Amino acid sequence: MANSKFEYVKQFEQPDNLLPNTWVVVRIDGRGFTKFSTKYGFEKPNDKRALELMNAAARAVMAELPDITIAYGVSDEYSFVFHKTCSLFERRSSKLVSTIVSTFTAYYVHFWSTHFPETPLSPPLPSFDGRAVCYPTVQNLRDYMSWRQVDCHINNLYNTTFWALIQLGSIDATEAEKTLKGTYAADKNEILFSKFGINYNNELEMYKKGSVVFRDYELVEPGTHNTTIEADNLAEPAQQSKTQAENDRKRRAKARIVVEHLDIIKDEFWDRRPWLLS
Ligand code: ATP
Ligand code: ATP
Ligand code: MG
Ligand code: MG
Ligand code: MG
Ligand code: MG
Ligand code: MG
Repeated sequence: MANSKFEYVKQFEQPDNLLPNTWVVVRIDGRGFTKFSTKYGFEKPNDKRALELMNAAARAVMAELPDITIAYGVSDEYSFVFHKTCSLFERRSSKLVSTIVSTFTAYYVHFWSTHFPETPLSPPLPSFDGRAVCYPTVQNLRDYMSWRQVDCHINNLYNTTFWALIQLGSIDATEAEKTLKGTYAADKNEILFSKFGINYNNELEMYKKGSVVFRDYELVEPGTHNTTIEADNLAEPAQQSKTQAENDRKRRAKARIVVEHLDIIKDEFWDRRPWLLS
């Protein structure tokens, strides 16, 4: 485009490139989903259709953006992890976040009728906010993922017990809250079992563990590979790693994207899928 006297305004744009060589996590979260879930009659504590809709949207986002390594979702939130070598949009935060948020929202709306055929969407429509955070080491990234999954577990155990007290125990929310105040996990398990015959272990894995979305390659048998987390910090020859990175990118783009409900806190998940963090 030709220069104009107006063009100086471009200089007001601030750079927001994220720190190089760090794992970028973009976490999105449904805006006002407490209200939204009531409006559309989500089952409490877990509406399966709503979670599967979140997973379908996340899967579509991953299919469109091969730079995403793995994603983790629970409730109305999803975290998308960009590989530390990712150079999409020159790592500009606003570009990455806005692209994820709008792609996710578009698919959420697109897939809505498949998951809620009886309740058409009407304004106010679902929307999501998003942020990007950089994690410098694999350990930091894994701790981030663990943090989200622990949160899922704590909230789900609480919510499962809370709603059992209300739905099966016929007490109101205030009383249920009072009953659970100061209780530990063991107490909640006990309430569920002794009062309602519910064994928490038998709850759906999707509710207990959340959802992990990743590209599926051949699994590595436990104990047979020698890649370690520390390898992440070793310098690589620049030339070789460029071709390698390009090959990886192509392979990644072709792989099947799966949604599973696995433990991502323990080493096993990562040890068996070394391509996720290498
Ligand atoms: P904010 O805009 O600040 O995020 P919010 O109302 O969305 O506000 P969150 O902390 O994100 O607050 O909580 C999400 C809400 O959506 C919770 O109340 C949760 O119970 C509800 N929710 C999300 N997914 C489901 C689901 N699959 N089934 C039942 N309820 C759900
Ligand atoms: P990027 O992802 O970098 O933004 P882009 O292809 O969207 O790539 P833009 O610079 O945003 O590039 O240009 C928008 C493109 O969409 C142009 O090619 C423009 O001609 C086309 N376009 C947008 N709106 C219209 C419209 N209403 N009618 C015809 N063409 C349109
Ligand atoms: Mg444009
Ligand atoms: Mg929020
Ligand atoms: Mg929310
Ligand atoms: Mg939330
Ligand atoms: Mg454009």
